[in-house]
Amino acid sequence: MMRQYELVERVANYIDTPNEALLNQAYVYAMQKHGEQKRASGDPYFSHPLEVAAILTDLHLDEETIAVALLHDTIEDTDATRREIDELFGERIGHLVEGLTKLKRLDLVTPQAKQAENLRRLLLAISDDIRVLLVKLSDRLHNMRTLGAMRPDKCKRIATETMEIYAPLAGRIGMQDLRDELEELSFKYINPEAYEAVIGHLEELAEKNKSLTIEISKNLETKLAEAGIKARVSSRQKKPYSVFRKMESKGLTFEQLSDIYGFRIIVNSEEDCYRALGFVHMEWAMVPGRFKDYISVPKQNDYQSLHTTVVGPARQRVELQIRTEQMHGVAEYGIAAHPTYKDGVDNVLESSAYESLRKTIEQLAEGDNPEEFLEHTKLELFLDQVFCFTPKGRIIALPKGATPVDFAYAVHTDIGNSCIGCKLNGKIMPVITELQNGDEVDIIRSAQQSPPAAWESVVATGKARSSIRRASRQAVRKQYSTLGARILERSFEKADKLYNSELLQAALPRLARETVDDVLAEVGRNEMPAENVILAIYPDFTSEDIKSEKGITAEDETGSEADRIPIRGINSDLPVTFSKDGGAVPGDNIVGLLLPGKGITIYPSQSKELARLKGDGAELLDVRWDIDEKNKERFPARIRILVDNKPGTLAMVADVIAQNDGNIQNLNMKVLVDEFMEMEIDIDVWGLTHLTQIIKQLSEKSITTKVDRITG
Ligand code: MN
Repeated sequence: MMRQYELVERVANYIDTPNEALLNQAYVYAMQKHGEQKRASGDPYFSHPLEVAAILTDLHLDEETIAVALLHDTIEDTDATRREIDELFGERIGHLVEGLTKLKRLDLVTPQAKQAENLRRLLLAISDDIRVLLVKLSDRLHNMRTLGAMRPDKCKRIATETMEIYAPLAGRIGMQDLRDELEELSFKYINPEAYEAVIGHLEELAEKNKSLTIEISKNLETKLAEAGIKARVSSRQKKPYSVFRKMESKGLTFEQLSDIYGFRIIVNSEEDCYRALGFVHMEWAMVPGRFKDYISVPKQNDYQSLHTTVVGPARQRVELQIRTEQMHGVAEYGIAAHPTYKDGVDNVLESSAYESLRKTIEQLAEGDNPEEFLEHTKLELFLDQVFCFTPKGRIIALPKGATPVDFAYAVHTDIGNSCIGCKLNGKIMPVITELQNGDEVDIIRSAQQSPPAAWESVVATGKARSSIRRASRQAVRKQYSTLGARILERSFEKADKLYNSELLQAALPRLARETVDDVLAEVGRNEMPAENVILAIYPDFTSEDIKSEKGITAEDETGSEADRIPIRGINSDLPVTFSKDGGAVPGDNIVGLLLPGKGITIYPSQSKELARLKGDGAELLDVRWDIDEKNKERFPARIRILVDNKPGTLAMVADVIAQNDGNIQNLNMKVLVDEFMEMEIDIDVWGLTHLTQIIKQLSEKSITTKVDRITG
């Protein structure tokens, strides 16, 4: 077991004048508290916190963190208390030890719901102070290294939890070595047969290629030196788990894997990285599509390097990573290697690796339910990423497959909610375009907009998905309650009764509903008759009191203009759709049809379909146009035109429509007899006047026999 002075010496290797008193006090306190306790292996229990502390000294962490590591199991496993630790070591250390104690009780491999809630608590504890995660990961690493002493079923459970939660978290904050070791150790327990098989193959291969790897390394080093670039070249074999994962994900056999070997070139400056790259590409053929520049665009966890693959001297593929010493440190130790870390822990909060972790946690705070969160987070921790830019040059990291909508939500929820379009690299593009590395994304916004529910299926991030779900749920509910309010106002007026929301509020118990909004939404959905609401407020009301029982159509003279529900268009605050196949345009007399759960469908009053539906006894609403002159929109209309069948006819018809500012959306034509042709054309128009003008212009042409408007 490591002695007290040995621990102090380890810290003194990287901190000039370490707080020896603190380290000694924590060492003695933890040793005394754990006393005669033994681990499953039979070792003294104190060897465990001591090893955890040692792992953290390898990561060059400060004395406080080392003390927390020594104390991390005392509250849970001994008679030590938070108060005692506060008194002896100060409140900050007490707080961290307590945080770790709580984490210890989390079981992350349980049925979904509980697991998600535990993960949420784990991440919240981490967001409090990143040192909790550093100690927790080291604790887990030591437990994994000594897992063999446990019962096999327990081993597998702990290994699964490590693989699914802790290894990705280590990767997320850039601690690649720690991640690799956690994965390799877990792999051995989760899938022992595969582990043995991969190890066997790798050893065989290493034996066979021993001289080759040395040759390539030397070759590279010499040639780079000749080119005036001082470099350290090392080779490494892929880890069994990463080999296995590649075989699984690409469906390859071991023999088909081409890049078991990688070489790392470490140089003195960023400039030398690019010079070395240029040299390597001149010397050997480069494999297309494999070059990645993580120096100018670092990974979310601060990782920097140039990656490339070339065809080596023996025609085999050689994977290369080129980086500086400092980048190498970040690649191995992640957050712990952050240069400002040693000046004080608060500085680490500025590292972007920690920032990315914070984002995961923010997203969790916004999630509606824990399962949803778990599903997305688990995926996102594993996915590859793309890096895009805001017009001001800020980098936004997103998972591969993300769209501009994801980007908008990653910048801010409000930007996502008001996104209506985007420019990619200066060009207007569909918002469903998959983002590529380096894209500059400019989000086009509109204040009145809420995101269409269908966007839920075009986004790749959990944050965007849950925000869209919430926003569209709210928008639809608001539309229905607005409609409900209109229906109630009208019904009360017809019944000649006073109505306001205070009266409705007072009648809620009789309707067995919680809020006024609940009632309005149900009426709007046609799930609660307006009459029920009248009865709840005026119990002696009888339906004979109603002026007219059914809704009044626009053809009737009874309803005054103000009584009618105003219809603005598709993007209104009401759940409105228009009849297909020749719908209504502003200027038409219109009628609304109320269908349960479907909102209002608008028909022109002359529609044949409407006559049929009226016959079936559908619920009709009197509605009127309420066009927003400032934000005019086009509406689809359909015409049928009978013209001469001769060359140039179609062009002439299209020309007339275009010259009159009509947009052709669809066109069907058929030849009736040799001389005549019939066309059905869907045109987007501003309103009835506009449509009438187009019809008039068309009928004046000599080729035209007849033009009719068609309504479905
Ligand atoms: Mn422990």
